[in-house]
Amino acid sequence: MKKYDVIIVGAGPAGGVCARELSATGRKVLLVEKAKDFFANDFSSGGSTLETLKTFDLPESVVGAFCKQVRISSSEESHLWRSADPIAIVFDFRKLRTFLADETSNNGSDLLFASSYQGYETQDGIILVSFKKSGTRTIEQFQTKVLVDATGSERKVLSHGAPRHQNAIVGTGIEFLVEVPEEVYRSHAECLSFFIGQRWMPQGYAWIFPMEANRLKVGVGRNYPNEQVVPHQKSFRFYLDRLMSACLQTDAITILDQHGKTLSYTSHQRDRYFDKNIIAIGDAVSTVNPLTFEGIRHAMMSGRVAALHVNNLLDNKIVNFQGYKVAMRRMSGFKWIVSEQLTQNIYREADDQKVNLMLGALKSFTMETLLDLVFYYRLKSAVKFYAAYTGLRLKAALTRSG
Ligand SMILES: Cc1cc2nc3c(=O)[nH]c(=O)nc-3n(C[C@H](O)[C@H](O)[C@H](O)COP(=O)(O)OP(=O)(O)OC[C@H]3O[C@@H](n4cnc5c(N)ncnc54)[C@H](O)[C@@H]3O)c2cc1C
Repeated sequence: MKKYDVIIVGAGPAGGVCARELSATGRKVLLVEKAKDFFANDFSSGGSTLETLKTFDLPESVVGAFCKQVRISSSEESHLWRSADPIAIVFDFRKLRTFLADETSNNGSDLLFASSYQGYETQDGIILVSFKKSGTRTIEQFQTKVLVDATGSERKVLSHGAPRHQNAIVGTGIEFLVEVPEEVYRSHAECLSFFIGQRWMPQGYAWIFPMEANRLKVGVGRNYPNEQVVPHQKSFRFYLDRLMSACLQTDAITILDQHGKTLSYTSHQRDRYFDKNIIAIGDAVSTVNPLTFEGIRHAMMSGRVAALHVNNLLDNKIVNFQGYKVAMRRMSGFKWIVSEQLTQNIYREADDQKVNLMLGALKSFTMETLLDLVFYYRLKSAVKFYAAYTGLRLKAALTRSG
């Protein structure tokens, strides 16, 4: 049986960064992924901040497009924010994960694809982990000192894929990768476009992101209090078709790929972070932001913080992962709670007039304050948004009452 210092289950952004950083420090890592390759689960839109590249020392080859503009449209109007320089990127999610896995392998560690985590048992402080090769009955077992749950919202290892928490914010996103004529592409290139309101997606939002030449990502996502309550009459496809017909305005659309996934965020991030030598990272501990469902860079950061603590545990500098939990909670904690509140107010607002006023409130924002709100979740920008929105609602009420 092969022995490892660390086995990481799940080769998403969290698992990939954790594996890359641990293997770079000389640890013997096994990174396991249930998909047969990264084409098979290319589910994420990949929007992120520009500085993510620098923070994680990533090459430009993992980027699908650089963006200088943000557009937000409600059911009735639209507003565009521009910058002279790129302010955001759209990752090519497949290339990002391929890069992280390749780096892990180049650092001398092992990769195992098409292998699904089955369970673990502990013997004298050593963890024995079982995987099933997909399409076969073959079970392989490996030994490790530390086991990392990087299975995303599935939370397969530490929470045993337990049913989602009662207070989870669950969101499903479905996206098409489409090829369009050059002139259509040009009008969407360099722009992250978001659509809110009943016309585009009740209790959610829609988006169009650019990728490399002539390719766009067109997606819709819904968010609902729990899986039992899905108060939606029309299908995802209905809204995707509406978005494409309203915004791309061409019949010459080729759908190259369709993908999607359901994410679950546990309210106040009340997830299990660790148990003895097992630690959970990324969406398995709700690093995804509940307002935007932007999770790549937060997942990668948790992978990095975890790698640091795993190294300390293996060097006997710490006795458990409590410090990791504290560090993670400190990083997102209150900001994520504010985002939960904004989620309730924005996506669950059924009245399009109020959604229009929300866009009206945002119009007073500069690009910088907008980014503070949607990418950095700064309290100051949330307060500014609420103040402007409340002002506009009062004004509208006064106008109505004559
Ligand atoms: C439609 C959609 C659009 C999104 N758009 C954006 C965006 O624009 N920007 C952004 O930042 N975030 C976006 N997100 C969120 C983002 O993709 C996630 O937050 C991020 O991928 C989380 O990373 P992770 O590594 O924690 O989990 P994941 O990326 O989910 O990776 C978990 C991995 O574990 C593997 N796995 C699961 N179970 C097992 C098992 N039993 N055995 C072995 N392997 C297993 C999975 O196959 C997967 O590869 C989007 C999500 C969706 C659904």
